Amino acid sequence: MLVLLVGVADYVTGAELSISIFYLIPISLSVLFVNRRVGVFFSVFSSATGLTTDLMVGHPYSHSVIVYWNNAIQLGFFLIIVFILSALKTEYEKTVKLNSDLQDTLSDLRKTQDELERKSQDLARSNTELEQFAYVAAHDLKQPLVVAGGYINRLRRLYKDKVDPKADRFIEYASDAINRMEALINALLAYARVGTKAKDLKVADYNEIVECAITNLQAEIEKSCAIVTYDRLPSLLADHIQIIQLFQNLIGNSIKFRGEEPPRVHISAEHKEQEWVISICDNGIGIDCRHSTSIFEIFQRLHDSSKYPGTGIGLATCKKIAENHGGRIWVESCPGKGSTFKFAIPIR
Ligand code: ADP
Repeated sequence: MLVLLVGVADYVTGAELSISIFYLIPISLSVLFVNRRVGVFFSVFSSATGLTTDLMVGHPYSHSVIVYWNNAIQLGFFLIIVFILSALKTEYEKTVKLNSDLQDTLSDLRKTQDELERKSQDLARSNTELEQFAYVAAHDLKQPLVVAGGYINRLRRLYKDKVDPKADRFIEYASDAINRMEALINALLAYARVGTKAKDLKVADYNEIVECAITNLQAEIEKSCAIVTYDRLPSLLADHIQIIQLFQNLIGNSIKFRGEEPPRVHISAEHKEQEWVISICDNGIGIDCRHSTSIFEIFQRLHDSSKYPGTGIGLATCKKIAENHGGRIWVESCPGKGSTFKFAIPIR
C-alpha cells in the first residue's frame, strides 16, 4: 500500500517527495506497534531531517520560502496519517476488547445455563422421588389402618351397649379418627398419583367426562338434592382419569360447601383465543377473596372439619391436574354469593 502511495506521489510530484514519503514506513510502524506520541515524534523528526537536507543541498526553487512550505505541508501530511492510523488502531483495539468481553459473557451464560439445567434436572428427580415416597408411605400406612379399623368394628359389634356408655363413645371417636385418616391417605395417594404430567393425553369429549364425574358423585347429589347442569362442552386433549378427578373434586366441593339452599351447580365453557375456559359455578357459601390463592395449596382449609369434613388436598390436586395439561386454575367468589371455579386448557 505504501509502495503504491510512494509510486503515485513520485509520478505526481517528482522523485524528491517520494523519498520523504518513505518516512511513512517507520512512522506508521511506530504508531501501530508503539503509540501515537512516538508517531508524532518520528513525523517531526523526519520533516526536520528533510528540511535540513533541503537547506544544505539547496533546491532550485523560485523562492527560498518554498523549502519551508514544502516541509510544513509534508509534516501536516505525516501528522494526518499518524492520527488516522492511531484512530483506526484504537477502534480495532476496542472491537477486539468488545469481542473478548462478548466471548466471556457468552461462556458465563453457557455456564449459568448448564447450572440451571442441572438444577432443574435435580428438582425434577427430587420431585419424582418425593412423589414416589408419598405414594409408598401412604400405601403402606393404609394396611395397618385397615387392620385397626377392622378391630374397632369388631369391638363395636361385640360390645356396643354391653359395657360402659363411655366405652361406646370412645369406640366412636376411634372409628371417626380411622375414617378421617383413611380419607387423608386416599387423598394423598390421589395427589401423588397425579404426578407432574398428564400421562395419557388423548382428545376427550368433556361432556362424557362430566357425565362420569356426576355418576361418581351420585350418592352425594341425591343426599343433598343437588342439581348439576352443564352446557355443551368441547372436546380437548386430556388425561381422561385426571380430568374426571378434576371435575369430581370441584363439583364435590360445590355440593359440600353448600349454603341453606339445595346446591345448584352449573358447568359452562368459553372459547378464548388460545384456550378453553371451563367454569364450575355454585350457589354455596362462597370464599373470601383473601384466600383465593392459598386454598390451592396442599392442606389449606378454611373451615373446621367438624362442620365441613375434608383433607385440604382436593384443590391442590386440581391445580396439579390443570398444570399437567398446560393450563391454570383460579376462583372468583364472594362470601355468601357462591363460587365460580375456572380452569383453562390450552388448545393444542
Ligand atoms: P377440602 O375440600 O378437603 O377441605 P380442598 O382443597 O378441596 O379441601 O378445598 C380447600 C378449601 O377451599 C376448603 O376447605 C374450603 O374452605 C374452600 N373451598 C373449596 N371449594 C369451595 C367451594 N365450592 N365453596 C366454598 N369454599 C370452597
